[in-house]
Amino acid sequence: MSDFKFADLNLCKELLKGVADLGFEEPSPIQAVAIPLVLAGRDMVGQAQTGTGKTAAFGLPVLERLNPRGKKVQALVLCPTRELAVQVAEEVSLLAAHLRGISVLPVYGGQSLDRQLRALERGVQFVVGTPGRVLDHLERGSLKLGALQTLVLDEADEMLDMGFRDDIESVLKAAPENCQKICFSATMPKDILALIQGHMRDPEFVRITRKELTVANVEQFYYEVQPYRKAEALCLVLDTCDFNKGIVFCSTKLGVDELATHLLACGYQADSLHGNLSQAQRDRVMGRFRSGGLELLIATDVAARGLDVDDVDLVLNYDVPFDVESYVHRIGRTGRAGKSGKAATFVTARELYKIRDISRYTKADIQRARLPSKREVSDLKTSRLLGEVLATAEAMKEERKDAQKIDRYEYLLESVSGGEHSERDIAGALLKMLVEREQIWPSPAELEAEKQAPPAEPGYAGRSAGKGASRGAGGKNTRKNGGMERLFFNIGSKARVTPGDFVGAITGETGLSGRIIGDIEIHDRFSFVEVPRDKAEEIMQAMNKTQIRGLRVAADIARPL
Ligand code: ADP
Ligand code: MG
Repeated sequence: MSDFKFADLNLCKELLKGVADLGFEEPSPIQAVAIPLVLAGRDMVGQAQTGTGKTAAFGLPVLERLNPRGKKVQALVLCPTRELAVQVAEEVSLLAAHLRGISVLPVYGGQSLDRQLRALERGVQFVVGTPGRVLDHLERGSLKLGALQTLVLDEADEMLDMGFRDDIESVLKAAPENCQKICFSATMPKDILALIQGHMRDPEFVRITRKELTVANVEQFYYEVQPYRKAEALCLVLDTCDFNKGIVFCSTKLGVDELATHLLACGYQADSLHGNLSQAQRDRVMGRFRSGGLELLIATDVAARGLDVDDVDLVLNYDVPFDVESYVHRIGRTGRAGKSGKAATFVTARELYKIRDISRYTKADIQRARLPSKREVSDLKTSRLLGEVLATAEAMKEERKDAQKIDRYEYLLESVSGGEHSERDIAGALLKMLVEREQIWPSPAELEAEKQAPPAEPGYAGRSAGKGASRGAGGKNTRKNGGMERLFFNIGSKARVTPGDFVGAITGETGLSGRIIGDIEIHDRFSFVEVPRDKAEEIMQAMNKTQIRGLRVAADIARPL
């Protein structure tokens, strides 16, 4: 949007070098507008979505204005979380890497006070901290704001959401009256304006408009799904999508935990991120996500806002976001730093209007996509598995060529083939075992059923042949389970169902005796009921036609990992 170059922004060459080191080519829109204002010493309020480079928008001009010879704190940035404080301090340090005599210090709860005290004593010019800890230091007198030139409230909306209002107010009061004040936020609710009123002098308001709020590099889709089939639809999409790091958004903490548990049970490397986690738990989850130890982060809006993970290539809205702005924030988690990404939203028929609203406001083309069928997923998994087999064969061949010897697998093969079973028989058997162990569902019977009717809730249909990872260890075989089959039901304690409801419904609908029913396990949103295998089909069909506690029931054979 801007024809500006960083070189046109009156920044010293050391800072321009820092910018070049970070690989920034041109200023983002908010940077192009904010940098000159902040350099000129103006107070400003800036609104732009996450991922638009707000850190450098204040970081660069604030650094430019620092006096390296002064050893007192000249700049203070408040951030909502420790994670963000560290992130901002890191980016500012990198930008300042070629400036001499400038030190940047993050201060946040959880880190040893001693270390922070010593660093503050040595003298730092730029402090980035969470409101609570900053206030702590102010009260102890270890942080003095007498020489403060600039105070920045970063992610102000989130700080208010997190209840930091009074702390921020106290810091604002502790800052010198003539100090420059800057506020950045992704949204601009009234309470922010109220907070800064009376503290800012003639602030300049900068807002990157809605149109630019859209994320350019993100392909956007939606899937129309039935409410009780969302979990199934999610697995189908995940199984057919090529991605490295994905974030799945739910609207509640409870939903996040339930979905994370479900996805883990289905064989995904998933974990949850929400406001109930301690800072240490958050750090652990984020660390694993960043390093690639997690492929899926299940999160609420607040928890994932402002997080800077560059290589997220998939965002899924398991629940439709409440408003257009949160939609934009969510999908802004992908397509960052010039990379491309995909975003898909699961909507029920009644929520279709929301997608239309979102696409109207963001001027984004959100395309309707068709859910892959079980057959497609199974074909894909099969071909991935065969790909792995071929790659292994190729690697073994190479090794044998190098070592000029017969490996132990060949001995093994010779020991079982040649008699009654040809090598071809053995290969067929091995493939069958692999496919079964890797739980490449559905079964031929299910495929037949799918042809006749759309699939029902699959429960714990496992995924495992993805991404070349071997997950053989998780493959328990349920078929040994004494002639009983576990049925999955789409309702649980949320719907107030009790074991008696299941027994009543099954006996009432089929005329079978209640004694044939085995274990009943009721979870929040789903349940498992054990029934004799030879009655499973009959019971399933009857249950799929009935209601329990006024809710339509979807039953299917559960497929544990
Ligand atoms: P925000 O605070 O608006 O959410 P950040 O400041 O965290 O955004 O920046 C998001 C990402 O974009 C970071 O990885 C940052 O290094 C990168 N970035 C910032 N400015 C630029 C730029 N001008 N060009 C390319 N990447 C940038
Ligand atoms: Mg930010």
